[in-house]
Amino acid sequence: MAELDKNQIEAIVRQVISNVNGAKTETVAAASAPKTTLSFTSTEYNGRKLVGIYSDMNDAIAAAQEGYTAVRKMTVDQREKIITAIRQLTYAEAPILAEMGVKETGMGKVEHKRLKHILVADKTPGTEDIVSAAKTGDNGLTLVEMAPFGVVGAITPSTNPSETVICNSIGMIAAGNGVVFNPHPGAICTSNYAVDLVNRACFSAGGPKVLVASMDKPTLDSAQTMYSHPAIRLLVCTGGPGVVRSVLSSGKKAIGAGAGNPPVIVDDTADIVKAGKCIIDGCTFDNNLPCIAEKEVFAFRSIKDQLITEMLKNGAYMLTKEEADKLVDIVLVDVTDKKTGKTKKQVNRKCVGRDASVIYDMLGTGKKLPADVRCLICETNFEHLFVQEELMMPILPIVTVDNIDEAVTLAVKAEHGNRHTAHMHSKNIDNLTKFASAVETTIFVKNAPSYAGIGFGGEGHTTFTIAGPTGEGITSARSFTRQRRCVMADSFRII
Ligand code: NAD
Repeated sequence: MAELDKNQIEAIVRQVISNVNGAKTETVAAASAPKTTLSFTSTEYNGRKLVGIYSDMNDAIAAAQEGYTAVRKMTVDQREKIITAIRQLTYAEAPILAEMGVKETGMGKVEHKRLKHILVADKTPGTEDIVSAAKTGDNGLTLVEMAPFGVVGAITPSTNPSETVICNSIGMIAAGNGVVFNPHPGAICTSNYAVDLVNRACFSAGGPKVLVASMDKPTLDSAQTMYSHPAIRLLVCTGGPGVVRSVLSSGKKAIGAGAGNPPVIVDDTADIVKAGKCIIDGCTFDNNLPCIAEKEVFAFRSIKDQLITEMLKNGAYMLTKEEADKLVDIVLVDVTDKKTGKTKKQVNRKCVGRDASVIYDMLGTGKKLPADVRCLICETNFEHLFVQEELMMPILPIVTVDNIDEAVTLAVKAEHGNRHTAHMHSKNIDNLTKFASAVETTIFVKNAPSYAGIGFGGEGHTTFTIAGPTGEGITSARSFTRQRRCVMADSFRII
């Protein structure tokens, strides 16, 4: 993916300013390049007040509603200009968003987060995704158009915070909607900076001052206000099982993009050199934060040792059994369910998205890992918690299997019915087909790193909201529309 130098960035910003009709230029200039000491809160960045941030969810919804009303009067071409401005500003400010995201959450890698923003800017579909359909026949013409819902209420995660806000905004605005976000409190500054970026771009392109809105202190209560507010016509939730469940039980039309636990099968026909590299590249991208990233490997016995050798060549460190056992109690903690009183395992947030070396240091062995280590691997059985839990950190368990049937059975079980993402390295089309068919995931990546599944080194558009539970799949602008039909009976045909 091409990198921009400072001059190019300035040229883009100038172009944004000059392209837009009636733009208020003082609001469009890209924020300055990241400083070594970024100063930000959920309402300010380097002393500048962020646009579109409110203390009351009702006010946020009212602002997004006003923005939506303004956009309704605009042409599709004008809407596309807003999308173009969002893409350009995202390009220009990706380094700020990336650095802020890591600084605020302590998770992920700055360079990978920068690439994720460039991916969003480049490959999130705009208004071209909205396509009308016509049906003609003896009874005339029927037209089906994809209309906006109005104001969309969106919940966003801490793992890809600004990526999701910008990706959702592009798709939802392209569909003609306004948006109100209730972002993850743990990434509120980064999420709100992205909300501000979208508003700056929108205004610069002749749109309303506020089209997307957010909260300064989002809470579960503000989410509830959003769920029940009559102006919110569609809810879109990107997050873990708890929040997806709560949105789906809101009584409103909802799109749910929930948890995954993507398994990888490597069979005896695979290019093992390539598989070892692809799996480590995918597993360690942004320190395993993407929900599509490789979480556990099922390797045929005949190639398992060679696969491990290739992983070790690509920055993996093989944990000893003692280290792996000790690490379980560090990265997974016991929590008591308030409702049932039962104890269950939950990932330790201090380990999520952290560098492999940081997680390894928590073992307290006194040993320092080589600087190029980016993934901790270990051999485990199927029941191991590293296989069963969605860790979201660069720890990768490897389970040995004897044949394709065993591999598929175990991998499908490990995916826990999320129907989210699965991967396979193989040249055997029967094996590939067998797994793809059995696992029923929204994304199935063959012979590539996981991120190829969201358009990074793979064909197809990108999204950071993969809606498995509700079936929209790789969401895009059309996912945020409602169909409307217009019937002209007995006329309007031209033949
Ligand atoms: P999370 O589930 O901890 O929280 C997501 C958001 O929901 C936050 O804003 C949080 O405050 C809020 N929230 C949590 N419970 C809520 C409730 N009951 N009511 C209202 N709001 C609630 O998310 P996270 O840890 O940031 O994200 C990680 C999870 O999200 C993983 O499981 C990952 O797989 C999943 N995820 C899925 C996708 C996808 O496209 N399918 C994308 C990114 C992340």
